[in-house]
Amino acid sequence: MKSSVIPRLTIVVPCYNEEPVLPTSAPILRRILQRLMDHQQVTPDSKILFVDDGSQDRTWALITELRQQDTCYTGLKFSRNYGQEAALMAGMQIAQPYADLIVTIDADLQDDPQLIFGMLEQAREGFDIVYGVRNDRSTDTWFKRTTAQGFYWFMGKLGVDLIPNHSDFRLMSQRAVTALMSCQESHPFIRGIIPQLGFPATKLYYKRQPRKAGVSKYPLRKMIRFALDGILSFSIAPIRAVLYAGLLICGGALLVLLWILIQHIRGAVVTGWSSIMASLWFLGGFQLVATSIIGEYVGRTFTEVKHRPRFIIQSDTYSSAFTPAQPVV
Ligand code: UDP
Ligand code: MG
Repeated sequence: MKSSVIPRLTIVVPCYNEEPVLPTSAPILRRILQRLMDHQQVTPDSKILFVDDGSQDRTWALITELRQQDTCYTGLKFSRNYGQEAALMAGMQIAQPYADLIVTIDADLQDDPQLIFGMLEQAREGFDIVYGVRNDRSTDTWFKRTTAQGFYWFMGKLGVDLIPNHSDFRLMSQRAVTALMSCQESHPFIRGIIPQLGFPATKLYYKRQPRKAGVSKYPLRKMIRFALDGILSFSIAPIRAVLYAGLLICGGALLVLLWILIQHIRGAVVTGWSSIMASLWFLGGFQLVATSIIGEYVGRTFTEVKHRPRFIIQSDTYSSAFTPAQPVV
């Protein structure tokens, strides 16, 4: 179904300590938006929405300066660092009532912003979701490439449908964003949820560039947390795997017992200190892993039932762009 109405676009950009790169990336995005406006592909009140995820540098000051120069730029500021997923959710949630289309893109512009033109074309063709997919991972380190591959493989085994080599560069229609917002979990794994929404979706390919400036905000610690969020929020398979492994070990232990019994009856001396030590350590370790996996799920349930907000917004210059304060009479 082709649409002929001009859509209002919002480009959501999560920013965490992006002071070095914002002065470069903001004008690039602005020029793209202007071209889209000039060609009447988006409405003149389309916006760029920077979400400052509790930066400690001058990111928010820069966003405010940009806003003063040009009303196309708007910003949200978190009260502290909540993480990229929360920043994306906040940007989409705030933009959802006003924007017909939302594009999310990283502040460092590693993802090719020119692809936005193609994304809009696909939206006009009737697609609700357009995924930006990297056609190679040459700008990644060997470690990141390998762990990413392992992650996709593992998630596939768990039955979670991820789009390989797609990060958070995508276009979504208003109704797809509304559906995403109805997922109320406190640590949403957006990349896993979106393919499950089931709207018409397509992919566009691009080559990922190195970061324009600044450094990656994903140290190993954050990468592990992100992967765990993905695995544990989508499946109870790890608990089941532990159960099967436990059963297997118990079965093995029974066989060993049987063997010991036979040796005993035959009068053979069972010294076996090393085998006892080995199984002791193995079982101890295994039990710790098993308990901590279950603990992770219990912990997550605990976090969910508290219904704490996913983020707290300290300032918002986006909503006010569409709903100007009523004059006091
Ligand atoms: N980001 C964020 N909060 C965080 C970490 C990252 O909003 O806690 C943003 C960051 O500013 C960037 C995007 O998420 O716009 C992706 O981060 P980065 O480029 O550092 O990740 P990488 O490309 O190295 O995976
Ligand atoms: Mg990056």
